[in-house]
Amino acid sequence: MSFTSNVPLPSPNDVNTDLTSPSQHAMMHFLGVPGALTSSCSDSTNAHVRELLSPITIGGATFHGLKPFVDLVDDALTDADNAHPGIRAALRCDGVICVRHQHGFPNVFSNHSWGTAIDLFFGNAPVPQGNPTTQSGILALVFHFHKRGLFWGGGFHKRSRVDSMHFEASEELMAKLKNDGDI
Ligand SMILES: [Zn+2]
Repeated sequence: MSFTSNVPLPSPNDVNTDLTSPSQHAMMHFLGVPGALTSSCSDSTNAHVRELLSPITIGGATFHGLKPFVDLVDDALTDADNAHPGIRAALRCDGVICVRHQHGFPNVFSNHSWGTAIDLFFGNAPVPQGNPTTQSGILALVFHFHKRGLFWGGGFHKRSRVDSMHFEASEELMAKLKNDGDI
């Protein structure tokens, strides 16, 4: 299976069923202020988040994110690799924790700021944000990530914001992790 073929995004109504992308307000409630609203990655100033950071290895490189989140990503990738052998070895990561504001929204933190979002792609480069297509390999991951409570950026309803390389802990998952004392 080729993981890099370019395919159209599905309708946002057909993905992320029962999952919500957490708002900044919700993330502040769960984890507090992550750091400074910088335009590119800055250091986390949140001691609780820093304490919970844990490594994940993708494409031979190591990245750090919030432990319960990266553990679920790891589980989802194991499931995906069982269904599509070789998909994990072909996968590349463009980043997990990165304290910064959203592109184009200088007052709103990206959910990468808390280490609860990950950018994934195959081949040489990800599909850029706002592009209505994705890679076939990313589409093959969506089912396994959804099962773990991870929201897919390819399903943002505002189509100028679609970001098919982006997966993040849903608000529902964050509430469960908080309730279970995992964050
Ligand atoms: Zn992202």
